[in-house]
Amino acid sequence: MKPAPFKYVVPDTVDEVLALQAEHEDEAKVLAGGQSLVALMNFRMAQPSVLIDLNGLTSLSGIENGGPVIEIKALTRQLEVERSATMTALPIVAEALRHVAHVAIRARGTFGGNIAHADPASELPALMLALEAEMVATGPDGERVIPAADFFKGYFTTSLEPTEILTSVRIPTKQPGAWAFMELARRHGDFALAGVATLLDVEDGRCRSARIALFGVADTPVRATEAEAFLVGKDPVGEVLEEAARITAEALNPSSDIHAPGAYRKKLSSVLVKRAVTAALNRGDMG
Ligand SMILES: Cc1cc2nc3c(=O)[nH]c(=O)nc-3n(C[C@H](O)[C@H](O)[C@H](O)COP(=O)(O)OP(=O)(O)OC[C@H]3O[C@@H](n4cnc5c(N)ncnc54)[C@H](O)[C@@H]3O)c2cc1C
Repeated sequence: MKPAPFKYVVPDTVDEVLALQAEHEDEAKVLAGGQSLVALMNFRMAQPSVLIDLNGLTSLSGIENGGPVIEIKALTRQLEVERSATMTALPIVAEALRHVAHVAIRARGTFGGNIAHADPASELPALMLALEAEMVATGPDGERVIPAADFFKGYFTTSLEPTEILTSVRIPTKQPGAWAFMELARRHGDFALAGVATLLDVEDGRCRSARIALFGVADTPVRATEAEAFLVGKDPVGEVLEEAARITAEALNPSSDIHAPGAYRKKLSSVLVKRAVTAALNRGDMG
């Protein structure tokens, strides 16, 4: 397959990107790693008349540890994030990234591109919900900071305006101590049928707080807010954990597709929650 004809531009600055977006609006698309967009263009599911290549913008790449937050610039390659010494402060990120496609794709695919693409079966959007990260969008009026909870609006849809780009992601470094990331895919590297990121703050055997974010089970990543609330103040094992898993699945209504029936995904979400909470308790801290 070949893409429809398009004009290709390589700006040097974010301002030039924004000017091009303002000029061409919905006709333009930005290109990051190209690992999703190029395939969509080749299948003619995306037909931008102007392709704005971000890869000349070195200012959009890198990872900064600012103490309370780690800021990952949007164009940083997924593999660089996975292997970064800075990211050892948040080991759940590397763990999640190892489930994203294959090394060759992660070497090209960008952290921000994955999040801006907002595939509901992707690992990173759910992880950003669980870590309560913030997305930094830059547009004609400057920067806008969007909590992950407000960023993912629907199937492949975010709250980014057509005149904005995602420039970085800020992740708080202070996170609950116990964590786990799990998914089930038919083959390693495939998109998951369903997956979960969980972070628990446990003291004296009781949950002080619980975060459970799921992917592959709705048209956006979702937090299992009812199950999270149920776990607070309880020892998350045995019947309590069974009930939390049941509550999680009860709140979901996943759709069926060629990969799996919705009912299977619903059941899978409860199994994954039980396994992830148990693994998080066994791990006990972020390290
Ligand atoms: C075989 C294969 C398997 C894969 N498996 C998985 C998987 O298991 N899990 C997973 O999560 N992903 C998977 N992917 C997708 C991969 O992670 C992509 O890298 C990612 O989805 C898109 O990142 P990108 O940098 O390549 O973005 P691109 O493909 O360049 O862009 C994707 C979309 O995001 C927009 N965009 C990109 N950057 C920005 C920005 N800074 N601001 C605003 N909009 C932006 C683009 O305009 C486009 O609409 C797979 C890809 C392949 C080819």
